[in-house]
Amino acid sequence: MRIDIISIFPEYFAPLSVSLMGKARERGILDIRLHQLRDWAHDVHHTVDDTPYGGGPGMVMKPEVWGEAIDAVIARSAGEFPGASIASGGTSGDGVVAGSSGGIAGESLVSGLEGEVAAVGGPVAGRTPRLIVPTPSGRRFTQSVALEYAAEPWLLFAPARYEGIDSRVMVEYASRLRVDEVSIGDYVLAGGEAAVLVMVEAVARLLPGVLGNANSVTDDSFAPGAMQNLLEGPVYTKPPVWRGHEVPEILLSGHHGKIARWRRDEALRRTYIRRPDLLPAVQDLDKADRQALA
Ligand code: SAM
Repeated sequence: MRIDIISIFPEYFAPLSVSLMGKARERGILDIRLHQLRDWAHDVHHTVDDTPYGGGPGMVMKPEVWGEAIDAVIARSAGEFPGASIASGGTSGDGVVAGSSGGIAGESLVSGLEGEVAAVGGPVAGRTPRLIVPTPSGRRFTQSVALEYAAEPWLLFAPARYEGIDSRVMVEYASRLRVDEVSIGDYVLAGGEAAVLVMVEAVARLLPGVLGNANSVTDDSFAPGAMQNLLEGPVYTKPPVWRGHEVPEILLSGHHGKIARWRRDEALRRTYIRRPDLLPAVQDLDKADRQALA
């Protein structure tokens, strides 16, 4: 998967070189490119914001700078993804990501991360990226949205600062790209970078080959299938008794059927207690499920 991120704080994304994300990049499963937004601000101070029309506190990010940056990042990739184009969102014309070659005026990869990502080979189903704009006023980011994004070959994130990006940017690109304004929760962060980190990690761990055990994904809270709309129950490891607290006996029994039933019961109970709002959407509750909730 190719991921481009345009931000005034590209250094914020250093954690994407650590742990599972770092390994996924080394293995070529993830190709992450960071771009400094200010490289497309042409005044001496590289200004990216201005006062809001209509008055009010704070500043708004300028449309010209974001427009140039998004066009340039996509144009640059056109050389890497044959068929990638800013003009329209076609889905034919598979291409191959050929690695970081060439460049465009005004673009710099962040030092320290530059060249760290290996060239990635593989088919690219779409010609344009899905543009993801984090905002508290967006569609809620959930595990289903993460799964949706994990099926995309190319994501372009546009995290804002201040009061956000001039709204005309999203209107402009909606005519050419799939644009999602997405919120990671009902609270307000200082900037979109942390939201991008959250989304990239949630998406990347769903990509084949990123997790050592693919079953971890299907057993997770919210996973499609049996865990849809359920929280995972408690988990334990050795020793069997720690500070007087015992591991539930059933988990030591070796009886797979009973363990699966216990896990399901615990997931149902935990969801009932901590997130009762999720339960109405749980499909196909059977008799044993109903007993667990009684
Ligand atoms: N005035 C904006 C509002 O009330 O919707 C909040 C702006 S916030 C200070 C600056 C930026 O942080 C946003 O434009 C967005 O990129 C990011 N951000 C803040 N909270 C977020 C959230 N819950 N989900 C996604 N992005 C968020």
